[in-house]
Amino acid sequence: MARYTDAACRLCRRESQKLFLKGERCYSPKCSLERRNYPPGQHGQGRKKTSDYGLQLREKQKAKRFYGLLEKQFHNTFLKAARRKGITGENLLVMLEMRLDNVVFRMGLASSRKEARQFVNHGHFTVDGRKVDIPSYEVKPGQKVAVRKKSHSSPKFKEIRDFQITSPEWLSVDFDKLEGMVVSYPTRNAIDTPIAEHLIVELYSK
Ligand code: SF4
Repeated sequence: MARYTDAACRLCRRESQKLFLKGERCYSPKCSLERRNYPPGQHGQGRKKTSDYGLQLREKQKAKRFYGLLEKQFHNTFLKAARRKGITGENLLVMLEMRLDNVVFRMGLASSRKEARQFVNHGHFTVDGRKVDIPSYEVKPGQKVAVRKKSHSSPKFKEIRDFQITSPEWLSVDFDKLEGMVVSYPTRNAIDTPIAEHLIVELYSK
């Protein structure tokens, strides 16, 4: 599976927005965006893109990077969203939110989406009692996502149990058991990712 391997902080600087790709560091003064809030590269401080296409492209890139998808995977998700009933842009965001790696992150069972993806890939999670190691697995309302029993003693999960972040209303989490439930699909208002999804729809509709 292809994945982005360059410096994560460059992506935030490119989008001029925190994408929270590095866990705790993102909340500390060490965050690169706090120190160098301009696009990376030799001409970073001089670049300006104001065309409609430029805005649409940036929004799509930002969404991709927030959720850690590469172009093909993101485009395929968009195509699926367009085939579903309802508003395509909202469908897209909901589908991105319901990915297993995102659900694990939103539940507070990983400190970043990148870490969540790694945990899932390494087989630390079950869905309804069955091991699932596919980060793009689409979780449905009513399903239970849990850390596998044999992973409970890992120092990382002990730390997570102690930390206990607040999860959104569409999820319920029991940190003592290291498990949670997807209560419902998130509404658009419950998704706090700062993305103007209509720009992505406009871009892919050209
Ligand atoms: Fe982005 Fe986190 Fe790096 Fe800050 S520390 S630039 S939020 S990945």
